[in-house]
Amino acid sequence: MISKNHQEKIPAIDDVMKLRETVWRNDSWKTYELVKSELPLTENDIVEASHRMERFAPYIEKCFPETKAQGGLIESPLKKIEGMQEKLGEFVSDTEKWMAGNLFLKMDSHLAIAGSVKARGGIYEILKHTEELAYKNKLMEYGDSYEKLADFSEFFSKYSIQVGSTGNLGLSIGIISAKIGYRVVVHMSADAKQWKKELLRSKGVIVKEYEGDYEAAVAAGRKLSDQDPMSYFVDDEHSKDLFLGYSVAAYRLQKQLSVQEVAVDKQHPLFVYIPCGVGGAPGGITFGLKTIFGDHVHCFFVEPTQCPCMLLGLATGKGEDVCVQDFGLTGNTHADGLAVGRPSPLVSEMMKHVVSGIFTVKDYKLYEYMRMLKNSEDIVIEPSSCAAFEGYVGMGHYPDMLEYIKEQELADKMENATHIVWATGGKLVPEENVKEYLETVLPSV
Ligand SMILES: *Cc1c(COP(=O)(O)O)cnc(C)c1O
Repeated sequence: MISKNHQEKIPAIDDVMKLRETVWRNDSWKTYELVKSELPLTENDIVEASHRMERFAPYIEKCFPETKAQGGLIESPLKKIEGMQEKLGEFVSDTEKWMAGNLFLKMDSHLAIAGSVKARGGIYEILKHTEELAYKNKLMEYGDSYEKLADFSEFFSKYSIQVGSTGNLGLSIGIISAKIGYRVVVHMSADAKQWKKELLRSKGVIVKEYEGDYEAAVAAGRKLSDQDPMSYFVDDEHSKDLFLGYSVAAYRLQKQLSVQEVAVDKQHPLFVYIPCGVGGAPGGITFGLKTIFGDHVHCFFVEPTQCPCMLLGLATGKGEDVCVQDFGLTGNTHADGLAVGRPSPLVSEMMKHVVSGIFTVKDYKLYEYMRMLKNSEDIVIEPSSCAAFEGYVGMGHYPDMLEYIKEQELADKMENATHIVWATGGKLVPEENVKEYLETVLPSV
């Protein structure tokens, strides 16, 4: 019933129910000045998170030597991808001239430690928890270098960390937690890839597998963790810490843009396209970017046609009270990282007036984009992550976006625009899986 009512009123929902690719333009979008004072999180929270990551840098550098070049900060390159831009131009016949702006790839696909965007939120939350335990138990005093924490793995082994995951969050939480010394249990949904489970087990992480989807894995993990006073649960559906860990990305990006002499202002709009699962990663990054660039940045999410939970949550205004199955969808998708049927309540609330729109993409295109990126730039990212390209393509394609550009008074500025496709995972995918993905061709239905 829910679905019928909305299907008639909202064209994007009609498209969703008919499994057509679409874009939903956020009609509740507001200028950021009006929104920010009403949000449950503030700029100060991001600053605090950013400082926390800096405090931990000596520890990270010591335990993960791969981060040495960046002084223990976990950060990824921002790369201009002209070859891919050209390829995308050939792929879509109806490109508009504003696709001529700069196209960059933000390579969180290659973040140290976890090889996905989850290295931001997941690691941040575990470090924050560790900091709290360390001070509470007097392992450290104020002013100590956090390097010292590397000596306490035995202490931390008395404590457990648990998390529900479709794969990448489990990898991120599992790897950092095991390194610190915690006992770790990752509750994996049916969508999780085998190699992710094996990699975790090789690090001593306990992996529990579930028949059900992401929501079921999270619920099981939460319940088990709540029964154990020594266990801490990373709650992807509600966690403010995860969200803030992601938001720090924006400060780092601001620096990278300035080093590359890319202006973001009234004459130079910035468009950002991010794949969306439960919403934490794209929501957190968007929150950070809006805090810095206000209305000069335009943030879009991309979801699979079979699993657009955030689109449904925001377009209906019902947030976490709706799931994709309510609209006749299976939730099954090749985009394992985005296979989440119900949006996060925190993120739905935070993004209600902030995200500019949400695109959907069919699974077959993920592999097409993956091949195009490999062939044009010799960069490999995982299929889920490739969803982001659909945002850039869709911007030049949908009449609703043309309208958006006009209403935002950007029509004459699109040649100065910068587009960032946010690559969210890929570095840890084993060679043989990469090969298989690159050979996968799905029907375009
Ligand atoms: C988790 C993930 C996302 C989306 O993050 P959410 O916080 O679930 O919205 C996107 N891409 C990849 C590869 C991921 O693993």
